[in-house]
Amino acid sequence: MDKIELMKKLEEETGKADIPLKSTAIKLVFGKGNPNCEILMVGESPGRNEDEQGFPFVGAAGKNLDKLLAQVGLKLDDVYIANILKYRPPENRAPSNEEIKAHTVYLLKQIEVIKPKVICSLGNYATKFFLANGEVDRMDKQPGITSIHGKVREMDFLGLKIRLIPLFHPAAIIYNRKLIEHWNADMEIVKKEIGQKNSV
Ligand code: URA
Repeated sequence: MDKIELMKKLEEETGKADIPLKSTAIKLVFGKGNPNCEILMVGESPGRNEDEQGFPFVGAAGKNLDKLLAQVGLKLDDVYIANILKYRPPENRAPSNEEIKAHTVYLLKQIEVIKPKVICSLGNYATKFFLANGEVDRMDKQPGITSIHGKVREMDFLGLKIRLIPLFHPAAIIYNRKLIEHWNADMEIVKKEIGQKNSV
C-alpha cells in the first residue's frame, strides 16, 4: 500500500476509535496535505471552523498559514498538516493530559506513515510534545516557543531520524509584524533543511 492509501486507512481507523472529545465534536479533523512530503506541520487543536469542515487550519489561523507558506514558496502539496488533537474540545478549552495521550496515538501513526525529514511544531503545545519525546506528562517541563523557535533539533523520534523545527503558531502571528519576521527567518531554515532552493 502506498502512503496515500495507508493514510486513508488510518483516517478511517481514527474515525472509528472511541476517543475522548469525539462525542462533543462535529467532525474528525485528521489532517490534510501530501503524505509523500518531507515536512510535517503539527498544530494544536481544531477550532470551530475546523470542527465544522473536518480539516485542520481552515479558519483564520489557517488562512494565515496558507499565506505564510506561500510567502516562502511552499504549497499544501509540499507539506502535511495535522494537529495534536483530532477533535475540537468544547469551547476550545485546554485538553487534559489523558485527552492528549489518547489523541496523539493517531498522530504518531501518521508520523510512521509519512516518515518526515522535518517536523515543524506550531506553537507551544506541539513543540512541548515533541521535545518531551511524546511523553505527555513531561510536556510542562519543556521550554516555551519564544526561546526555541527556529532552533533545529535533531531527534530520534519513534526510531525515525527527524529534525524538529519549532515555529510560532500562525494564530499568534496574524497581527504581529515582529513574529512574521521571525517566521520568515525560521522558514528559510526549514527550506534549507529539506534542500529547497526557492527564496522569499
Ligand atoms: N489552530 C490549530 O492549532 N489547529 C487548527 O487546526 C486550527 C487552529
